[in-house]
Amino acid sequence: MAQQHPDSPETNFDRILGFTIPARDCRGRMVRLGPVLDDILAAHDYPPAIKHVLAEALVLAALMGGLLKERDDQLTIQAQSEGGVISLLVCDYRNGELRGYLSHDPAEFDRLGADPSLADLFGQGYLAITFDIPTSDQRYQGLVPLEGASLTHAVEAYFAQSEQVPTLIRTAVRSGAGGCVAGGMLIQHLPDGEEGRERLHVRFDEPEWEHISILGASLRPEEIFEQSLSLEQLVWRLYHEEPEVRVVQGEHLTKGCRCSVLHFEQVLARFPKDERRDMADENGVIVVDCAFCSRKFPILD
Ligand SMILES: [Zn+2]
Repeated sequence: MAQQHPDSPETNFDRILGFTIPARDCRGRMVRLGPVLDDILAAHDYPPAIKHVLAEALVLAALMGGLLKERDDQLTIQAQSEGGVISLLVCDYRNGELRGYLSHDPAEFDRLGADPSLADLFGQGYLAITFDIPTSDQRYQGLVPLEGASLTHAVEAYFAQSEQVPTLIRTAVRSGAGGCVAGGMLIQHLPDGEEGRERLHVRFDEPEWEHISILGASLRPEEIFEQSLSLEQLVWRLYHEEPEVRVVQGEHLTKGCRCSVLHFEQVLARFPKDERRDMADENGVIVVDCAFCSRKFPILD
C-alpha cells in the first residue's frame, strides 16, 4: 500500500465526521485522533495514566467542538479540583484546532495505584463546559460535579443537567509504543430539531432514542482504534438498518495554539512593576512558558 501523508484524511485519523438520522431525530459526531494527539502530548512529560486523561478530554473537546456551527466558535472544557492529583485540566477547540494541558502533582500521582479512578485523580472537582459563540456574542457555560467513572460520564451528565439533551458518549484511549490513538462518538436526541428545546424525559420514554442509543452503546473500543475502518464505516456498522443516515465531513483536526509574544506581553503588563522585576533574570528578561504547547517566550520587561 502506498505511504500516505500522516495528516491526509485517507489515514482515517484526525478528523470529525458528523451524521444525522432524520427519522429518529438524532445527530452524532465521530472522531479518531492519531498524529494530532501525539503532537499535543509530546509538548508535555506526563505519565501514561495522566496522558490518558488528557487524551480522553481532547476526544471530548473534538466531539463537542464538532457541534459548533460558525467559524471562530469555541468550545472549552475545564476541570478543576481540590484534593486530587490533577488540580487543573484545560482543553479547547476552535476552527479544527485542538489544544490542552493539565497540572498534576507527580509525587501524589506516584502514591496512586496502577488504575486510578476519576475520584483519585480529581478528588472533589467540577467540570465547566463553555460554548463561546462570537457571531451572536453569546456564551453558554454549564458546571457539573466531576463524578462517575470517567470524564466522559461527567460530560454526559453536563448534557443531561445543563442542556437537558439526551446524549450518549463513548470514548476510548489506547497508548503504546507506536503512539496514542483515541476516539469516540457522541449521539444526541433532538426531537424538535437542532434549534428546538429538548426534553430530557425522552431518554426514558422515547422509543426512537432508546433504539439509537442501544445501537450506539454497542460501539467497541477495538472498532474505535481500528485504523482501517473509516469513520463512515463505523457509522454504517452501527446504523446500516436505518432508512437514511446522512453524513457530513467535519473539520480536519490540527494542534493549535494561540500563544504569542504579544499575548504574554499583555498578560505580564497586568502584573505590578515590582513583581515583574522579581520574575526577570539579570538581563531584564522574563521567560514565559505557554502552558498548552510548552513553547518558551523570552519577554524583555
Ligand atoms: Zn502555546
